Amino acid sequence: MTKTLTLLGSGDMGTALGKAWLAAGYDLTVWNRTAARTARLAEAGATVAGTAAKAVAANDLIVLCLLDDASVGEALDGIDLAGKDVVNLTTGTPADARARSAWVAERGGRLLDGGIMAVPPMIGVEGSGAYVFYSGSPELFETRADLLSVPAGTRYVGADAGFAALYDVALLSGMTGMFAGINHAFALLRGENASPAEFATMLAEWLTAMTGMIGGIAESLSKNDFTTGVTSNLAMMVTGNGTLLRTAAEQGVSAELIAPFTDLMARHSAAGHGDEGLAGLVDALRG
Ligand code: NDP
Repeated sequence: MTKTLTLLGSGDMGTALGKAWLAAGYDLTVWNRTAARTARLAEAGATVAGTAAKAVAANDLIVLCLLDDASVGEALDGIDLAGKDVVNLTTGTPADARARSAWVAERGGRLLDGGIMAVPPMIGVEGSGAYVFYSGSPELFETRADLLSVPAGTRYVGADAGFAALYDVALLSGMTGMFAGINHAFALLRGENASPAEFATMLAEWLTAMTGMIGGIAESLSKNDFTTGVTSNLAMMVTGNGTLLRTAAEQGVSAELIAPFTDLMARHSAAGHGDEGLAGLVDALRG
């Protein structure tokens, strides 16, 4: 397989990806809507194409790293994709990825969707922990495995093009809830005679210890058993949540970040599930 590819998009992430391929000796053609933003890659040895159509025509492998799915549709509008391998590293929903996969197939190409689990400074850095979820064409993934493993590790999660986005968004959603809790915790201590730096250490240690609960939730879900082995039951936690909410009020902190979760726990417990652990809330969320 020749070491050539086209990259559409040289924003912060696209530039980091492009630099990694250039550093590994790949021949890179780049296009960006705002031409000036290709300068960093051009300096590093990339060939700059004047239009997206010319960039696509230059190579069989096309990597996209644009803002959102709509930008992908705009950038590829009217371009012949016959015989092209399209790797879409633009963040989107699972439905976006499935629709885009069919859209590329209608135009004669095949698609691999990717969800990047990293920020730009981690790209191309050995040992940074950066990786990309991939789903979609298994043949494309296997044929291009060497190239795909240059900027970050790879995790192939299935032929359904929507799965990379699903795993990506599930991890980001877990992170979003975690940061909501972190912001609430800092707000409780704000204005008090307490060092944010010292508290940060305590919070990081506590949250790290609590990640030990994740495996137990998975086990309950796998067995469809939400009561066996429960050491912190919902009824107890609902009472504890009252203390959390009253403390927020005492400290003048809005409970808006934690209230949706404490409300769900109270509702599920009141519906007769007070002896369950946290895993029971997963199905309660799905209605
Ligand atoms: P940037 O905002 O730096 O770059 C966005 C890119 O999309 C630019 O190349 C921009 O072109 C292009 N673009 C936007 N709208 C259009 C359009 N309508 N038509 C054509 N091109 C368009 O974002 P990033 O590079 O940081 O992010 C790119 C993707 O990578 C996103 O999907 C993001 O979610 C994902 N990602 C980013 C991470 C990060 O930390 N940065 C982490 C993980 C994933 P122009 O220069 O002309 O505006």
